Parts: sequence; C-alpha cells; structure tokens
Amino acid sequence: MDAERYTEALYEGKEDAALRRVLDSIKERNMPDISVKPGYGRLLTLLVAASGAKDVLEIGALAGYSGICLARGLPPGGSLVSLELKAEYAELAHANLTAAGFGDRVTYRVGEALPQLEALAAEGRAFDFFFIDADKGNYPNYLDWALRLGRPGAIIIGDNTLMKGRIVEEASTSPSVRAMRAFNERIAHDPRLTSVMLPAYDGLAIARIVG
Ligand code: SAH
Ligand code: MG
Repeated sequence: MDAERYTEALYEGKEDAALRRVLDSIKERNMPDISVKPGYGRLLTLLVAASGAKDVLEIGALAGYSGICLARGLPPGGSLVSLELKAEYAELAHANLTAAGFGDRVTYRVGEALPQLEALAAEGRAFDFFFIDADKGNYPNYLDWALRLGRPGAIIIGDNTLMKGRIVEEASTSPSVRAMRAFNERIAHDPRLTSVMLPAYDGLAIARIVG
C-alpha cells in the first residue's frame, strides 16, 4: 500500500542494527516472515514508554523483533516476560534481545501460552502491558487472561486483527477468523475497556483496562 511505503520510507536510513539483525536471523533460518510491522513496532515502544509500564507480557516471541520494540520502552527496572511455543524460537529471540542489550530484562517461558498464563496467575504475577501476537484462534482466551492479569489502566495490544483481509470477507468462516472477529468485537464493546482499532498494515487493536 502506497501510504505505508511512504510512511516507512520516512524512517529509512535511521540506524537500526538490532532490528535488522532479527530480520536477518529469520531469513537465515527460513523462519516465517511475520514479525510485527516496523510502524507498529515503533508504536509499541512509544506506548510502553508513554504508559510507564514496568511489567510487560508478550504472547508469541518468534525471533524477538517485537520483544526489542517493547523492551526499548521500558523504564529502568522494568521487565518483559515472553511466552513462546517453540524452544528454538525462544532461544533465538533471547540471543537477539541480548545482542540488543536487553538480555537481562527478558524472561522466556517456553510452551503453550495458555498453561503458562495459568502459571503466571498462580504465581500472583500482574502486568501493565500486554502484546498478544500468537495463534489467532486463542485471541479471545488471551484477552480473558489479560483482563485477569492486568492491573487497572493496563494496555492490551492485539496484532494482525485483520488477518490479511480475511476478517472483512464474509465468506471466511474458519475457526481462527471467527475467533478474531469475536476478539475484535470484545475489544470494541467490553465495558471494562476503552479502545481503538487501527486498520493500517494488518490491523492492530489497542485497549486500556478502565482504571
Ligand atoms: N511477536 C513476534 C511475532 C510472533 S509470530 C514479533 O512481532 O516479532 C507468532 C509466534 O507465536 C510464533 O513464534 C509461534 O511459535 C508462537 N505461537 C504460536 N502458537 C502459540 C501458542 N499456542 N503458545 C505460545 N506461542 C505460540
Ligand atoms: Mg503479528
């Protein structure tokens, strides 16, 4: 899309070795090219910093692109917990965050996210900021957990809320599409949330737990 190309071109030439290293590491390993889009990565940094979030939870690490963006917004003493299904992805993400200077700020928890979320609740953990970016069929469940683990005023972000346009195609009725539609409707209507949906790139939901 032209507007997106123009907008990204504005940032060209800005030194960003850390994020480039992540994208190179993905290519080298033939991993899926599904890191958060650069503009939304910048938005993650901005929102973590603007909200003053100290405890950030990410669901879906891949190679650490969004992890670096989130960590860049943290205040001194802030930390990131990242849930990732695949051990080799979590290891790569950790290496990439370490190279970016955030190795001691991030903890990876490997395996299915849902049991990890249950474990975090059992440990009495609470968070100020959530980035939901894993399997789309579980987005409504991840939203439930964010509402449970989120402090008043916590920010909840969901990536890929348009699923490459499938969300707006009436004929698309796969379980993951239906789950994402339910997620989007809850983001818009849950009385516990104030929110906005950004339709650029692949769609981004931004919500705040009413404090
Ligand atoms: N947030 C990353 C991209 C994540 S891609 C970034 O923008 O840089 C989605 C990730 O979710 C993949 O790494 C995948 O392995 C992971 N994932 C998929 N299903 C999962 C599940 N059930 N629990 C935890 N992680 C899962
Ligand atoms: Mg994504």
